[in-house]
Amino acid sequence: MSEFNIALIKGDGIGPEIVDGAVTVLDAVGEKFGHKFNYKEVLMGGCAYDACGVPLPQETIDVCKASDSVLLGAVGGPKWDSVPSQLRPEKGLLGIRKALGLYSNLRPSILKPQLKEASPLKDEKLKNGLDVMVVRELTGGIYFGKREKAEDGSWASDEEKYSVEEIKRIAKIAFETAMLRNKKVVSVDKANVLESSRLWRATVTEMAKDYPQVELSHMYVDNAAMQLAINPAQFDVIVTSNIFGDILSDLSSAIAGSIGMLPSASLGATKCGMYEPIHGSAPDIAGMDIANPIATIVSAALMLDMSLGLHEEAKAINAAVDKVLDMGYRTADIMSEGMKKTGTKEMAALIAQNL
Ligand code: NAD
Repeated sequence: MSEFNIALIKGDGIGPEIVDGAVTVLDAVGEKFGHKFNYKEVLMGGCAYDACGVPLPQETIDVCKASDSVLLGAVGGPKWDSVPSQLRPEKGLLGIRKALGLYSNLRPSILKPQLKEASPLKDEKLKNGLDVMVVRELTGGIYFGKREKAEDGSWASDEEKYSVEEIKRIAKIAFETAMLRNKKVVSVDKANVLESSRLWRATVTEMAKDYPQVELSHMYVDNAAMQLAINPAQFDVIVTSNIFGDILSDLSSAIAGSIGMLPSASLGATKCGMYEPIHGSAPDIAGMDIANPIATIVSAALMLDMSLGLHEEAKAINAAVDKVLDMGYRTADIMSEGMKKTGTKEMAALIAQNL
């Protein structure tokens, strides 16, 4: 029997419900395939602020570093809106990414045929499907740049800064990801305006020489947003900065049906990654047993695949998700006519039963 140590960060809002759902499925995987997953629960976000006065306690960093991988729900919520900016729940998220050196964020968006009805795009725009991997730089750019605010509150600024090394390492991930897919990379920037984007474009272009089989093109971010909405099938891998990736991956997830369906992997130089749904803590539906746990469950599948080397097990989870959707079960966010409405707990249990 193989054993794996997984740090669980449930976080705030719907975080505990969706992570519990993923644990239900992981336990079923463990039973079926003969693995033992040892979980260690740690605090981050608003719940950590409430319990310890900081959004990212040192213990959380230590436990995550000592684990094979980290599974995260989500953090934040209006309860902490008036907390000083340095102590806001989201600071925990930025801090853990930095502390674990997780510089790349991979966000696959696939339109499942069962969820075509849930996509806001017309059938005509979806006829060629959607299967895009957004590779987002995660520990640089404006989210980590210098922040300033005038004492009298009359101005504020945030700095967008990238080094060649930061761009190179994320571009490498994008090209290598493309080699395993359809060998097309679109690098998204705003090089017509921003100096940092011009460096981004030049560096990615230089890197492309090492990957002659990959077709590289460049797109301005405003055009990329429009292209995703009018012809999503044209994309294979998108590589972009922290802020542009944040926005474009939410857009691609909406096209795929619901933000509640899509996973993400945050990776650095080691095998230990952090896996989380791309959505936030959804405080509006917290504690109601209506949140869609699938994004977290397929994030757990990505974790098995990318960090723990359990490829068959990951496939089994994805197949079980498809089977349950084929059976017609839907949470509220992906509900359509004639389908069977279900809640967070039941959806997770159904997926576990159908492995
Ligand atoms: P959100 O993603 O939490 O919610 C946006 C909308 O999508 C809401 O209507 C919500 O009910 C719905 N939704 C989200 N996840 C869902 C799910 N699994 N099932 C069904 N519906 C779902 O974004 P927001 O409202 O902008 O942010 C809420 C809080 O989450 C904020 O404090 C924000 O800072 C935080 N946040 C955290 C993360 C993270 O932890 N990684 C990411 C984004 C936002």
